[in-house]
Amino acid sequence: MEKYFKIVVDAYYGYFNYLVNEIMYPSWTNYFWWLVGLSLAVWLLELVFPWRKSQPALRKDFWLDGFYMFFNFFLFSLIAYNAISNVAVEAFNDFLGLFGITNLVAIEVSSWPRWAQFALLFVVADFIQWNVHRLLHRVPALWEFHKVHHSVEQMGFAAHLRFHWMETILYKSAQYIPLAMIGFGLTDFFLVHIFATAIGHLNHANLRITYGPLKYLLNNPIMHIWHHAKTLPKGSYGVNYGLTLSIWDYLFGTAYIPHEGRDIPLGFDGVEKFPKTFWEQVTYPLRKKST
Ligand SMILES: [Zn+2]
Ligand SMILES: [Zn+2]
Repeated sequence: MEKYFKIVVDAYYGYFNYLVNEIMYPSWTNYFWWLVGLSLAVWLLELVFPWRKSQPALRKDFWLDGFYMFFNFFLFSLIAYNAISNVAVEAFNDFLGLFGITNLVAIEVSSWPRWAQFALLFVVADFIQWNVHRLLHRVPALWEFHKVHHSVEQMGFAAHLRFHWMETILYKSAQYIPLAMIGFGLTDFFLVHIFATAIGHLNHANLRITYGPLKYLLNNPIMHIWHHAKTLPKGSYGVNYGLTLSIWDYLFGTAYIPHEGRDIPLGFDGVEKFPKTFWEQVTYPLRKKST
């Protein structure tokens, strides 16, 4: 128990120092400035080449989504991620130790070339995310949390990181534990994270981009807008669950782009009554259960 406590404390303490350093000293290996730079770049593209020309530059909920962006990506993704996933991995290893299993390396990846390790990490992590995202739609209790992301009614890049902080915990725990088991460490996530942030920003941007034939591989704004459609095909819980890669939706039959959905209504049934402020939104799933 003491060991887990120490890991959590060290992670928070380390994180605080890291935070100060990140803001003070911009560099190429710095999450914070990458997020700022990518956001400004995609916003600029939206302003110069807008898909929905009548959408205001400061669209509905622009500032709310901007706040979510920093709150989620910068603070919680790193705190919760470091602390919880390290504890979970330690606990998991201790649990295996009870049965005399000290190392559960199914695939020996460390002898692979660096690019192959990276490709494997990226593909496995993305497939896990696709499955977590499906569960967020399929399990009613999880959908209450995921509604925050789907309460966006006017789409723009900052909507990418508008989601309940519980999602970070679900996604990162589900991703990190299996990857740690096959021998990947936290530092390997940096490049994957930056690439995923760029594609995710673009998926939500007010831009008409499809990447040509690469659309079967990479998620894009024209595909993702249908994920946010207010009206889904009959009997389905959702479509286009892809985060960075679109290939899983094509492989498993959940891809759905009936036409270019530039102006389709977004949200879900009853989105008009969904809370409008950050605090009301993040407490919504808890209040919902107690009523
Ligand atoms: Zn969703
Ligand atoms: Zn989205």
